[in-house]
Amino acid sequence: MQEREHSEKDLILFAGDPSQVRWDVELDVLVIGAGGCGLVAALAAAEKGAEVLVLEKEREGGGNTSLSQAMVPAAGTRFQKDAGVEDSPELMAEEILKKNNYQSDPELTLHVARESSRLVEWLSGAMGIHLELVTEFLYPGHSRYRIHANRSRKGARLINALFQCLNRFESIDIAYKAPARRLVANSLDGSVMGAEAEIEGVGKNLARAKKVILALNGFGANKKMLEEYISEMKDAYYFGHEGNTGEGILWGQALGAALDCMGAYQAHGSVAYPHGTLLTWAVISLGGYQVNLEGERFVNEYHGYSEHALDVLAQEEKVAIEIFDERIYRAVENYEDFQQCIQTGAIKRFESIEDLALSFGLPVERTVSTHEAFQKAAMGQGADEKGRTSFGEPLRPPFYAAKVTGALFHTQGGLKVNRFAQVLRPDGSVIPNLYAGGGTAAGFSGTAGPSGYLSANGLLAALVLGKIAGEEAGTASLGEA
Ligand SMILES: Cc1cc2nc3c(=O)[nH]c(=O)nc-3n(C[C@H](O)[C@H](O)[C@H](O)COP(=O)(O)OP(=O)(O)OC[C@H]3O[C@@H](n4cnc5c(N)ncnc54)[C@H](O)[C@@H]3O)c2cc1C
Repeated sequence: MQEREHSEKDLILFAGDPSQVRWDVELDVLVIGAGGCGLVAALAAAEKGAEVLVLEKEREGGGNTSLSQAMVPAAGTRFQKDAGVEDSPELMAEEILKKNNYQSDPELTLHVARESSRLVEWLSGAMGIHLELVTEFLYPGHSRYRIHANRSRKGARLINALFQCLNRFESIDIAYKAPARRLVANSLDGSVMGAEAEIEGVGKNLARAKKVILALNGFGANKKMLEEYISEMKDAYYFGHEGNTGEGILWGQALGAALDCMGAYQAHGSVAYPHGTLLTWAVISLGGYQVNLEGERFVNEYHGYSEHALDVLAQEEKVAIEIFDERIYRAVENYEDFQQCIQTGAIKRFESIEDLALSFGLPVERTVSTHEAFQKAAMGQGADEKGRTSFGEPLRPPFYAAKVTGALFHTQGGLKVNRFAQVLRPDGSVIPNLYAGGGTAAGFSGTAGPSGYLSANGLLAALVLGKIAGEEAGTASLGEA
């Protein structure tokens, strides 16, 4: 076995032929990363009859998916039909494209929108995972109720449910504290043959696989890559998983894969500060609003939580005060993230806006007049000065408020893939045996910045592409010696 140029050797181990390598383990499908994408891919591949090994860098799986609110978008599901919601993959794809300024590949966007209902039916059917349609609010940018989630709206529970499914398959093995360090590729044609992992207590281990699925998310926790591709967020609070250090994208790049949308990301403008808990965006969707430390609103909050992060970060001390009422509090109090906000003391209750302003050190008169102007607009008595048109209902005392900041959640750029989740070179040819999904693949959120991200694009790319990658890799691996 030989190692090529110095710059590649940390990323790729080149070998002339699989028979030249002393493999520690041989299997059909190797999945790298045990988050939402990886677990779904492993299950889908095993369902096809493949022997699967999942490598996970950390002590436990879950990644960003565990931290998420488990909101999965899908169009044309039976949940929607039961609720009388008329929707179609075409409409869903159009809304994704509208949000990303028509910058994502239209055919691939439509394909994942079409596959989204199959994913939700499979998760809730064959996999037996409880999902329901979220009807308490419409996320900005979605014109239909099409978000599906578990009851607690918590990704950690979705991950637990996926692990329970994994236990049903003897053909799936999972290794923890087993970061993949390099891909192994054939030096003649660049086809992928497996990966080298460093397993705690075991050391270096070479896994030979007929197909490899990269499911290790993006580079939100890699300062160097952030500096190169998303410099405006390199110093922002990172609210995602620390394991997401971008090596999957670097491996693909070293093998000649095309990178796409590297400047795109999901951020959030409503993370309780300094508590570090997520104040769900439902608070805004249901009629809440934000003021800065001057007691003034600074933007139409309803435009989208991802881009809103930059608006909050542009305010004094990079914070805002989010104001809502008892109706909104009751609507979301069962969300696990909201419960965490309550338990950490991030949310405070007030009988009046004056008390609220005093508590957060805001100028009282200005805060009161901001509130009155917002209320008038919410009651339809004149246009909102920031152009907001969706308010839920006007707010009534008692009021609630939390100090929030903007944060980076995850990156949306990565390896370009086709409808089979195969990794592509710039000329459109595939890198043999290599698949990617979730944050390792280029997403559907435009080419740069936070504003192309339509709510729940993250799990769309993770779970839909994960399922496609697993099915394709599983089936293809069985036809090979
Ligand atoms: C607070 C929060 C809330 C969110 N809410 C939503 C939501 O409700 N809906 C939505 O659509 N999106 C949401 N997102 C985004 C969503 O969580 C991500 O887009 C999605 O989880 C990505 O899934 P993934 O499988 O690609 O990555 P992950 O779930 O992050 O999994 C990647 C895994 O790979 C492992 N790994 C990394 N490197 C290696 C290596 N070298 N070897 C082995 N393993 C490795 C990591 O440790 C991790 O376990 C949210 C994000 C955050 C931070």
